[in-house]
Amino acid sequence: MLMSKRRNVKIEELEKVVMKLNINAPVELIKGIGSKKGEKFKKLGIRTYRDLLFYFPRQYEDRRNFKKLIEFADEEKACVELSVVGKEVTRPRKSMEILKVFVKDDTSVASIVFFNQKYLTSRFEEGKKIKIYGKAKKSFGKIEFNSPEIEFENSKLKKTGIIYPIYSLTYGLNNEDIIQGLKKIIVDIDKIEDYIPLEIRNRNKICDASYALKNIHFPEHVQNLKVARYRMVFEEFFFLQIGLFTFRRNIEQVSGIPIEPSTELGKFLESLPFSLTKAQRKVLDEILSDMKKNIPMNRLVQGDVGSGKTVVAAIALYSAVLRGYQGALMAPTEILANQHFESFESFFKDTGVKIEILTGSTSKKKKEEISKRLVEHDVDIIIGTHSLLEDYVEFENLGLVVTDEQHRFGVRQRNILQSKGRENLSPHVLVMTATPIPRTLSLIFYGDLDISTIDELPPGRKPIDTFAIAQEKRKRAYEFIKEQIEDGRQAYIVCPLVEESEQVEAMAVESLYEDLKSGFLKNIKISLLHGKMKSKEKDDIMQAFKNNEISVLISTTVIEVGVNVPNSTVMVVENAERFGLSQLHQLRGRIGRGGHKSYCILIYKGKEEYMSERMKIMEETNDGFLISQKDLEIRGPGEFLGTRQHGVPELKIGDIIKHMDILKKAQEEAKLVYRNDPQFNEIANRNLRGEIEHRFQERLEEIALN
Ligand code: ADP
Ligand code: MG
Repeated sequence: MLMSKRRNVKIEELEKVVMKLNINAPVELIKGIGSKKGEKFKKLGIRTYRDLLFYFPRQYEDRRNFKKLIEFADEEKACVELSVVGKEVTRPRKSMEILKVFVKDDTSVASIVFFNQKYLTSRFEEGKKIKIYGKAKKSFGKIEFNSPEIEFENSKLKKTGIIYPIYSLTYGLNNEDIIQGLKKIIVDIDKIEDYIPLEIRNRNKICDASYALKNIHFPEHVQNLKVARYRMVFEEFFFLQIGLFTFRRNIEQVSGIPIEPSTELGKFLESLPFSLTKAQRKVLDEILSDMKKNIPMNRLVQGDVGSGKTVVAAIALYSAVLRGYQGALMAPTEILANQHFESFESFFKDTGVKIEILTGSTSKKKKEEISKRLVEHDVDIIIGTHSLLEDYVEFENLGLVVTDEQHRFGVRQRNILQSKGRENLSPHVLVMTATPIPRTLSLIFYGDLDISTIDELPPGRKPIDTFAIAQEKRKRAYEFIKEQIEDGRQAYIVCPLVEESEQVEAMAVESLYEDLKSGFLKNIKISLLHGKMKSKEKDDIMQAFKNNEISVLISTTVIEVGVNVPNSTVMVVENAERFGLSQLHQLRGRIGRGGHKSYCILIYKGKEEYMSERMKIMEETNDGFLISQKDLEIRGPGEFLGTRQHGVPELKIGDIIKHMDILKKAQEEAKLVYRNDPQFNEIANRNLRGEIEHRFQERLEEIALN
């Protein structure tokens, strides 16, 4: 009995193996790839059949065009069928050997030249037929091909007459190695069961997996390649989005901390020096109702610079404090943390809320004290920089964490802060950014977040006038600053980030400072600010600037985010061409914060078309959303957001700008599947589940560890 049962199982398993292609088998099992070559494949990240199948060509060469010798133009690349007439080997230098093969077709004669490829010599016997693909050099009626691709008669690997895939390689592995490996798997490709449900494939008119994988490597026609690529792009986005949703589900499985807003909150709102805008109130409602739930909030608040995000965060934090929880607010720079600390002290002056600040320059003694008080719940709200991520920062009962200027942090850092709650309980998470991105993209970059938008500025803000001027006209900018200062206003002058080095940056800004002090801005109270300065020094300068004891602040981008000095009305950006549009917009956001008309002057060098186009965008709009869209188009998503930093897996084939339409469709489908069958239990989604588990294994493990 037992025996026969066993046998049955075995046969079933066997059938499975026959039916399916095990694409998770190691590449070493492919005939012709041993352990030595396997190592080389690993260098390219190719360990399994699957990795190889998904190692897409870097480009394709259309080698379907055959010509007669006489038809070649100089420098033209094409295929030609030839027969060998003779050959000659010369050694012009000791280290150089030249093989020249004489060939002909029925229209003309030509020669083919190889350098140091002695092993080829014996293969060109007289009378042999060959096909080549290469570039013709024509001079004085002679035709020569330099190291073309050769296809010998009866050769197993076709190199001519086809669309030829070209792969990124590593030392010791050539294009043919990859092609040969792939050919051996692709013979069985029809055995792959598609992991995208049929319904989705039909609805979106995408081909099946086996067709796509075959044709992305070896397309017979350009159209087949298009169809294959479309599927692969769709698939990549689809899985990316599904993965992000799954990631979110994993977060939601942790219990949250339900926090009911207290009636005290209303009193607090009344105590503020202004009433909230409609947009602020709407966003605050969204936040407070998230916080009531027993799943942790994960919300992004995006709002243009100056839209008043800080106060919204303060209210949310207060709501947590009123129910006996602690809160944390993390900012990317010390200046910003200090500023938040000051605002909070003023917001909370009559409430008894205990607020502390923790930054890199907090003294060791003070750090120890704060650390102790946090654990004893003698601090309600802690404001700080990355220092808050340190191990010694522990809480008694953390209820809400806020990250300001989220684009400056990575997902990881957000997670660290979030993990400082009580065991098995996740605090609510609020992140804020002034760099909004289009909805489609935010789903990717913030796929695990809900989004609120403050789409309105507090009343009384006057739009900022922006002028872009060429460097030759700098003098005028500085004359204008002087006029504003005579009227009692203040100004910023920002120097570009020269390199990713604060040292170099400091030098650049110092020399600008010296220049201006003895030149355009003689007799004006100017001061210098940069990241290399001691923190005390920075504070003193910011304080003096706030008190209008300094008229002009010459600074690096340390003031880029958040800084709030309402009396400053001029922002001059030197070498504005070196900044991204969003960054310029952030800098511009430092002014126009009081009742006075404000001006942004962008001094640029270089007359390239795109430069003036970028400057024009800045002149024409104050709309941060539009600007970040343009910035994204101009710089591309990688640079715009730093995909790595955001924890979004790198895309192989999809381009979130170029393929925005496909991205939208894939997102729709991902949402649908996720909504209807979040555990992927339905039969139609069975293969999908396996594929998801496979693709996100590492990521999910990482989450499980956190
Ligand atoms: P951001 O969204 O760029 O972080 P802030 O929170 O720094 O903006 O707010 C900018 C300024 O606007 C601050 O001085 C803040 O006190 C003020 N502010 C915020 N909300 C309002 C409001 N509803 N009415 C008037 N002023 C406001
Ligand atoms: Mg801010």
